[in-house]
Amino acid sequence: MKKKITIIGSTGSIGTQALEVIEKISDKFEIIGLSAGTNVDLLNQQIAKFHPKKVCISTKAEIIDKSVKVLYGDTGLEELCSDKENDIILVAVSGKIGLRPTISAIKNGIDIALANKETLVMAGDIVIDLAKKYNVNILPVDSEHSAIHQCIKDISQVSKLIITASGGPFLHKTLEEMRNATVEQTLKHPRWNMGKKITVDSATLMNKGLEVIEAHHLFGFDYDDIEVVIHPQSIVHSAVEYKDGSVVAQLGLPSMHIPIQYAITYPNRVEGIKSKSFSFAEIAHLDFEKPDFDKFKTVSLAFEAGRTGGNATTIINAANEEAVFAFLANKIKLFDIYSITEKIYSETNVIKTPTLEEIFETDSETRFKTRELIKKYFN
Ligand code: NDP
Ligand code: MG
Repeated sequence: MKKKITIIGSTGSIGTQALEVIEKISDKFEIIGLSAGTNVDLLNQQIAKFHPKKVCISTKAEIIDKSVKVLYGDTGLEELCSDKENDIILVAVSGKIGLRPTISAIKNGIDIALANKETLVMAGDIVIDLAKKYNVNILPVDSEHSAIHQCIKDISQVSKLIITASGGPFLHKTLEEMRNATVEQTLKHPRWNMGKKITVDSATLMNKGLEVIEAHHLFGFDYDDIEVVIHPQSIVHSAVEYKDGSVVAQLGLPSMHIPIQYAITYPNRVEGIKSKSFSFAEIAHLDFEKPDFDKFKTVSLAFEAGRTGGNATTIINAANEEAVFAFLANKIKLFDIYSITEKIYSETNVIKTPTLEEIFETDSETRFKTRELIKKYFN
């Protein structure tokens, strides 16, 4: 029987790669729903090719195929993800928009393939508790978490998670070069082709910070037992250390097709889109180094917010995202992203066990404060 799937954010980097995977193994999947933000042209092309029953777009626009049910906006996304006909929902939207639809899917007992890391950074405790309550699997799409998921046989015997980071475009650049980095230089990631927001986060290493928080929630590990290591080749996607000192790592050529496919076909493995066979001899060597936490302060900030818990990680997520948007709009410099996020974080009171509504309030208030700060000091 075909697995029934909805992809939200089908027009993005992860969404389009997920459709490439599904095209290759189309005998295994039926697409129930797709969603776009504003790229309606691409959504129309995807509808013509994959024939979903329903779609959602952020605002009114013309959907050519009149047999498709069209939903709109944030409530439309929640409705799309509540449809119990789905076996799995791939959450591939970017930013805070992923949280509510993920919760709707969980409450309807639908498994989640989660690319949107902001969902767990904003409200990991709530989301993981709900997933347990409704007996829903949250299958990681993020390559590091997919790697860890693949390495763990018996989680009770694992003592440490080791998350690798490519180090982004400024790994071996001086502080001065990084300070003067343009948007164009920042968006040139050496290994991965991704959406703009996550590409900037990869350059500041905030992406790794967010991934540490994501790993804490997905696998229930203390922050003291999560380590970040720089590995520029992006071949070892992450690893786990077992109590007896044995280390199991997951390797592969850098491609998001594999983790996307593993999440949606789990627990099975299929041939799918694999392009060429892996060769250690061709790779020849793998490098590892300690992250420079003085240069990449975002990682330490994420660890600190993670250890503080409650809505602390909601705050850094929102402040960082607004600062990234300001950087992309050429309003601030790359280094200001950290200083702004740190300032907003240090000035906001933390709620230890926030409700979902308090999470959303924190998110909106933090974004407002961040935009005001940028207006005041950087315009
Ligand atoms: P993109 O920016 O490429 O895509 C984002 C998707 O979300 C698009 O389909 C976009 O629609 C949609 N979207 C954006 N805003 C809204 C909105 N307000 N309402 C409805 N839909 C919206 O991002 P990525 O694919 O790179 O990343 C998606 C998520 O996956 C992020 O959370 C990221 O952190 C995570 N991730 C990504 C990886 C990657 O390799 N790209 C790796 C690991 C995690 P449209 O374009 O039509 O406006
Ligand atoms: Mg990742």
